[in-house]
Amino acid sequence: MTEDFDLAIVGGGPAGLAAGLYAARMNLRTVLLDRGPLGGQLLNTELIEDYPGFESILGHELAAKMGEHARKFGLDIREFQPVGEVDVEGEQKVVRLDEGGELRAPALILAAGGLPRKLGVPGEAEFAGRGVSYCAVCDGAFFKGQVLAVVGGGDAALEEADFLTRYASKVYVIHRRSEFRAQPVLQDRARSNPKIEFILDARLEEVAGDGQVSSVRYLQNGEQKELPVGGVFIFVGFLPNSGVLKPHAEHDEIGHFITNRDLETSIPGIWAVGDVRAQLTKQIATAVGDGTTAAVGASQYLDRLRDQVSASA
Ligand code: NAP
Repeated sequence: MTEDFDLAIVGGGPAGLAAGLYAARMNLRTVLLDRGPLGGQLLNTELIEDYPGFESILGHELAAKMGEHARKFGLDIREFQPVGEVDVEGEQKVVRLDEGGELRAPALILAAGGLPRKLGVPGEAEFAGRGVSYCAVCDGAFFKGQVLAVVGGGDAALEEADFLTRYASKVYVIHRRSEFRAQPVLQDRARSNPKIEFILDARLEEVAGDGQVSSVRYLQNGEQKELPVGGVFIFVGFLPNSGVLKPHAEHDEIGHFITNRDLETSIPGIWAVGDVRAQLTKQIATAVGDGTTAAVGASQYLDRLRDQVSASA
């Protein structure tokens, strides 16, 4: 089955939902597809304290509010609808769905976010779901009273280490350098948390256990060390879901799409917003700004297409 729209949005995190809200409010026939429930990375974040207007709100609550708001303007939201690929046929952008069928629209916004980067050490894959996790909000409660390791030194590592101390008796943050790239406020919070201890200039080399994680092995100052832990949470960055786009669009070495001022990719009529695009930061506020810019850009693009059609008629 084929369905036609003015605009298709792939991804239902804050960037996609903001784009959908603006587009629907501008009366564009807009569909938004997400392979899971709405919210994207909001669903992996417990508490949000840096989104203007909300001093403190739970990630899943903000996701629900954004979804309701966009629906009110008429956005056609389809959850649990994985996209197999996005292709281009002439002016049309074609969204092929995993379960069969396709959606067509002259304008398309890629808001597909990304997935946690893996460390690639022995034991990581073997113990995934059995002590190795990439989501503190999802899995933290399974580790009540246990000693945990968190790997990484960015915002995610320090924020989630702090969150995990709700459950864990102790959280060791293992970081490969002695300086952190995390925001100072998150560093201060982690440093003042008595349950957090830092293991710096240390490289995690192996996750070990027997059925379930029981320790991690790391290298520090040339010395091999072992730390008994019940679980290890890995926060070493993020890889964009840019592979869904079939034709080549310009991207950086990791795969983030390179966009112009209006957030259009190198393919006319396709925009990239939020974590899937190359930019300085991955914040909810910037994702929402991205979605807004792209929706307005898409609306203007559709106007130009209509003008061309009427001029040639
Ligand atoms: P990130 O900022 O890229 O930090 C990744 C961390 O992992 C860095 O400390 C890095 O070490 C370390 N790392 C990378 N590869 C590694 C490897 N192979 N072995 C060991 N360590 C490795 O990633 P993130 O923390 O996931 O954050 C992603 C984006 O989301 C950022 O833009 C961040 O600002 C944003 N974010 C914001 C918030 C918030 O504002 N509250 C919360 C979460 C995420 P080096 O420092 O040595 O490179």
